[in-house]
Amino acid sequence: MEVPIYSYDVVIVGAGLAGCAAAREIKKAGKNVVVLTKLHPLRSHSGAAQGGVNAALSEEDDVELHMFDTVKGSDYLADQNAVELMCSKAPETIRWIEHMGAAFSRREDGRIAQRPFGGQSKPRACFAKDRTGLTLLQTIYEQAHREGVEFWDEWYVADILYKDGKAYGVVAFNLRNMEPAIFNAKAVMFATGGYARAFKINSNAHANTGDGLSIFARHGLPLEDMEFVQFHPSGLAGSGILISEAARGEGGKLFNKNGERFMEKYAPEKMELAPRDVVARAIMNEIREGRGVGPDGMAVYLDLTHLGEEKIMERLPELRDLAITFLGQDMVKEPIMITVTAHYSMGGIPVDIDGHVKKSPTELTEGLYAAGECACVSVHGANRLGANSLLEALFFGRHVGESIVKDLEKGISCEIAHPEEAKNMLKEIEFVLTNNGNETSAQLRQELQDTMFENCGVFRTEESLLKQKEILKDLRERFKNIRIDDKSKTFNTDLQEAIELGHMLDYATFIVEGAIARKESRGAHFREDYPQRDDENFLKHTYAYMDKEGNISLEYGEVVLGKFEPQERKY
Ligand SMILES: Cc1cc2nc3c(=O)[nH]c(=O)nc-3n(C[C@H](O)[C@H](O)[C@H](O)COP(=O)(O)OP(=O)(O)OC[C@H]3O[C@@H](n4cnc5c(N)ncnc54)[C@H](O)[C@@H]3O)c2cc1C
Repeated sequence: MEVPIYSYDVVIVGAGLAGCAAAREIKKAGKNVVVLTKLHPLRSHSGAAQGGVNAALSEEDDVELHMFDTVKGSDYLADQNAVELMCSKAPETIRWIEHMGAAFSRREDGRIAQRPFGGQSKPRACFAKDRTGLTLLQTIYEQAHREGVEFWDEWYVADILYKDGKAYGVVAFNLRNMEPAIFNAKAVMFATGGYARAFKINSNAHANTGDGLSIFARHGLPLEDMEFVQFHPSGLAGSGILISEAARGEGGKLFNKNGERFMEKYAPEKMELAPRDVVARAIMNEIREGRGVGPDGMAVYLDLTHLGEEKIMERLPELRDLAITFLGQDMVKEPIMITVTAHYSMGGIPVDIDGHVKKSPTELTEGLYAAGECACVSVHGANRLGANSLLEALFFGRHVGESIVKDLEKGISCEIAHPEEAKNMLKEIEFVLTNNGNETSAQLRQELQDTMFENCGVFRTEESLLKQKEILKDLRERFKNIRIDDKSKTFNTDLQEAIELGHMLDYATFIVEGAIARKESRGAHFREDYPQRDDENFLKHTYAYMDKEGNISLEYGEVVLGKFEPQERKY
């Protein structure tokens, strides 16, 4: 098959906030850049973000406090140099996107309004009603277009060109007709977003299948801190569709079936606005002890009725619609039923603060970059605070774009790509199309999601994790027996889903292996058999590598500490 080769200075994979922000900066600097995305850019998950984006803007707040809250929220695992960079640039980042046209909600005096979010000492989340992500994404996408960035929508990237520590392009196919192509480039940036789809109840878009992570891992590159998966306290009961923390920020209260405002027991000071890990565990505990609500007792109530219709319609209109559509409950009139939902992934592709991908805790690759949720620069450590991730995607997207321009100006050599280098991808497609087994993607995915939620969820033990390790081994074996019905070449979603499932099985293994080895509880990773944080042995980042047989080996890297000394975390 003929494989065309296109040449660029930079190829970016992913058109969410991080990808678009980087592309705009790179194009503005006069470099030749293409953005490849499996979705239309405006369908990227960034557009689903509701609640807000943090910056210490107001007179009562300051950057140092934002840094402290972030480090404490991370259970001291965040790298403090990265936190300092992001928090100190946050006000400028908000002004930058605002000047490009993002219409934030306003205070009476005309300044940008800010709402409280979990674990933050001050109201710090700037917002556009409850559609913050969409507002930001539309703005940055428009501006990237205005600069003339080339977007290739509905192109699926399946592999990187990577040799001897150096990247020089990607291999992709067109989802419309399955035509393959190679994109040869001096710099390759991944901005492929989150991957909570490995869990049964999750808040993520269908596309959040962690492709980028597995693509790297299959080349022997490490993934960092994968055991830290954030469970958000408020997904709609049953589906897990997100009800933003903005609901609690605006004053929402949580009740169990006995009408008790149970957060009094778990976080008497911060109550519903404790960080997500704390609230999620409190909810699961109420449910486990039989105080849940709903037909299966698997939910609790979130009450917003005291806010009144006017405030709900002004601040949370989208959330009200979601609860009516998917649950038949109107938050203006009654409490709605919520439950914990897998939401965000703190771990990912390890990068330094300028976005260079690491090939070990202390060595960098060349020509390879990552930013946004797929990356782990470790601003969130073991637990992310709400509204810090839109900030991460926007700020680091832009910053890594600038860093690529600097590297290009210093000079990056580029290996010439050859058509045969599409062979891994073509083999993968051929396998899925022609394999004649008896397993379906839908069945394997369902089993993966059910068991990950059950055995590697909010509460974990050695026993549940070892069981999950065996289940994953079995699922990976069964994947070899997969069969799809659609053999066509036009928008073959069966094929795409099977390839995505392969990625999910790979990165889920990293989550489980990291969690088995981390014999402590920190942030979102809670081991019932090791309920305490153990700084002596585990104040360190996990780096995990996959070999050709799919076995994982681990090593550890240092945490960049700074002015905030680790302390006990109380709210
Ligand atoms: C429901 C919800 C609400 C949220 N609310 C907030 C909030 O209020 N505040 C906050 O700070 N954070 C929030 N978050 C988190 C935040 O939205 C994300 O972390 C952030 O937007 C991620 O941006 P990104 O650019 O890294 O990735 P994304 O926006 O997810 O974009 C990923 C891109 O990668 C592309 N891609 C992936 N794989 C491939 C492939 N194989 N080939 C080609 N393209 C590929 C996709 O097409 C897409 O364009 C929320 C998340 C969810 C799910």
